[in-house]
Amino acid sequence: ETALERDVVVVGAGPAGLMAARTLRAAGKSVAVLEARDRVGGRTWSRDVDGAFLEIGGQWVSPDQTELLGLLAELGKETYPRYRDGESVYISPDGARHTYTGSMFPADADTVAEMERLIGILDGLVAEIGAAEPWAHPKARELDTVSFHHWLRQQSSDEAACNNIGIFVAGGMLTKPAHAFSTLQAVLMAASAGSFSNLVDEDFILDRRVVGGMQSVSEAMAAELGDDVVFLDTPVRTIRWGGPEDTYAEYVPGMPVTVWSDRVTVVAQDVVVAVPPNLYSRISFEPPLPRLQHQMHQHQSLGLVIKVHAVYETPFWREAGLSGTGFGAMELCQEVYDNTNHGDDRGTLVAFVSDEKADEVFALPAEERRRLILESLAHYLGDEALSPVVYYESDFGSEEWTRGAYAASYDLGGLHRYGAHQRTPVGPIRWACSDLAAEGYQHVDGALRQGRLAATEVLSGAGA
Ligand code: FAD
Repeated sequence: ETALERDVVVVGAGPAGLMAARTLRAAGKSVAVLEARDRVGGRTWSRDVDGAFLEIGGQWVSPDQTELLGLLAELGKETYPRYRDGESVYISPDGARHTYTGSMFPADADTVAEMERLIGILDGLVAEIGAAEPWAHPKARELDTVSFHHWLRQQSSDEAACNNIGIFVAGGMLTKPAHAFSTLQAVLMAASAGSFSNLVDEDFILDRRVVGGMQSVSEAMAAELGDDVVFLDTPVRTIRWGGPEDTYAEYVPGMPVTVWSDRVTVVAQDVVVAVPPNLYSRISFEPPLPRLQHQMHQHQSLGLVIKVHAVYETPFWREAGLSGTGFGAMELCQEVYDNTNHGDDRGTLVAFVSDEKADEVFALPAEERRRLILESLAHYLGDEALSPVVYYESDFGSEEWTRGAYAASYDLGGLHRYGAHQRTPVGPIRWACSDLAAEGYQHVDGALRQGRLAATEVLSGAGA
């Protein structure tokens, strides 16, 4: 076992942890980044599966994600647009297939009018409440104690409209059923993307991808930091701050903190914990975290989604005049997109099976699950979708160092109750993760913002 002395220890080499380390290093601090997995990137991960390059985790960039866009420019990384020419497909609740262009589903006119009205109400709430501190708004408690499902039905009696709006946030983003999170949480999700209208506009949210994959952003940051900074296969087990009375109340900035992992022990002055909040309890904190943190962390959980990848000899849907984009609230795959790689002759589709539907198909044998998922793709794009040459299901729920996808959100009532405290440092420990972000919440952009913010606070001694 190696013993090291560094100014700062960063736990986790996802985008948040690596941006924290990068910012600290640029300011002249010595840093160690300890990563549990045998790779960097966390929930961004590219793999070659049966000869196909697949982005298993986070991949898309939207035009408002300026922290990520700035980093891409600094690292010299190119982006390319998601293919979206041609008609999209909407599968209505009765199972009928409709093609359309533009951003609004071809639902019946009354439902479309209701959807537009609901989007207007939500845009108003988002503009009023914002992403920075939704818990501080006068309506916070009211909106945080009603589920998004029930709130939508208080606003409208059009079930199809409620469902279509609900899934943008539920299956589409938080990957939890709309009854399991609050309207305030839905407002935060939309505010983090600028507006509810942005959130429901796939051409905005799912605009571009990174040539070489999103994980390569973390790999480039890690390469710049070097091998004596980033330690892989190094799960952190214990963070001990040894003050005179062993309580955080006794903490004085600059006192040493020791971080134990499976491979190295590091003595430092500051720690940035850059792992999702559902994993904080995998680390022993000595002395124990204060009551508020213990309670808060039990109310933050990850959603569940299967990201399905299906690769075909050609992007056959394009020849049929289809963009590859499809939506259907009642379909097993609620969303499908053309995910063909930059410069690739083969065509790739990506589709998502979320929350309770994911539970249902995970209970089935793998072959049965694959058959049902491909049948759902065929409902959108025709029978050729039934026979991919490569098929893969991203399953972050099974990954010990993530345990779900895409990210963490509060249970009903948790956001207004705890949100103000989620980033409060505890002694020498600061928290950074996309799941605590305002702008870019649940996204790589938010992770980078959080990493930079935690590092800036270490440098200024703020909040400790
Ligand atoms: P993570 O990426 O989770 O990194 C945390 C790191 O900490 C991990 O490497 C983990 O191994 C490590 N760790 C955990 N515990 C310990 C420990 N005890 N000791 C040491 N290390 C530890 N975002 C987008 O912007 N666009 C998308 O299109 C998009 N799609 C997504 C699709 C999927 C399937 C998933 C799962 C996510 C997606 N996201 C997307 C979300 C995005 O990937 C995350 O928001 C981002 O990766 C979070 O970065 P992070 O650094 O905060 O956390």
